[in-house]
Amino acid sequence: MAKRARKDGSSLISTNSKQKAVKRTRKGKNVGKLAMLLKMPMDILFEILAHLRPLDLLHVARTSKELRRILLAPSSTSVWKDSLSADLDLPECPPDLSYPGWAHLVYDPFCHMCSDSRVKNPDWKLRVRLCALCSKRGLSACQPWSVYFRDLPIQELLPHHDVKDNRSIYVKADIDKMVKTWKSIKDTAARWQFSEERRDIVERIDEHASRCEAWARKKALDKIAYQDTVRLARRTSIIQKLKDAGYTADIESMTEDDWASFDRLRPVAQKRALTDQAWKNMKENVVEFIMSCRDKQPADAN
Ligand SMILES: [Zn+2]
Repeated sequence: MAKRARKDGSSLISTNSKQKAVKRTRKGKNVGKLAMLLKMPMDILFEILAHLRPLDLLHVARTSKELRRILLAPSSTSVWKDSLSADLDLPECPPDLSYPGWAHLVYDPFCHMCSDSRVKNPDWKLRVRLCALCSKRGLSACQPWSVYFRDLPIQELLPHHDVKDNRSIYVKADIDKMVKTWKSIKDTAARWQFSEERRDIVERIDEHASRCEAWARKKALDKIAYQDTVRLARRTSIIQKLKDAGYTADIESMTEDDWASFDRLRPVAQKRALTDQAWKNMKENVVEFIMSCRDKQPADAN
């Protein structure tokens, strides 16, 4: 079977997103600081870079031509590997993608075509992350017997999603490239061998995509569980602060409805740890709410 070459990743870090990232970085006034990296000995630079998260590495690669050249060179493979390995359950980088390309697919939250819209999840099978608008431009729903394909067994050659009316969704650019490749193979036996190889590749992509989907689902669930834990800890801290401020009796006499309203208060519902400053900012509002609950209590019968 023909061994597939890894893409070097440069095409996966588009100029458009590169420019946007530079703009974003400039806003963060980091460009000068990042330029300092280039003055370091390479081994120290690699040591530092290997500790960055993959998304930070992508941002660094987009800040200057030199850093981009360094980070996309094969000698930086270990940097990407170390960075990606911090995400313990992440499936391995597929053999036909570069490590930067893989990091781009997994972690860069912006649409691969327009770089404007955030897109929650990539399409693991088609290996693109596209917003709704760019999906219309970048993807194509075709029937396998389309005149364009002639004798090309497109469903065997490219990863796709089957949809209704016997159509399947493909990346348009992948179709164009595949049609060209297919036309360039004239010999029937060679075409047969090529189809066999591609069928294996597509199977492996499908299997890898399933594992990626499971990983992304678990990650999303873990995030929700973590945020719930943080929110509950914040709620507990706020209640303790109120008790410390002398509102224990009011808290203990709150009804279920009062608690439901309390939990919906914006400063209470946030999924962030409580800080002293946050407590200072919210105290007046939260105490006001507690007092409103007190006002609703029936007067003591004497
Ligand atoms: Zn887009």
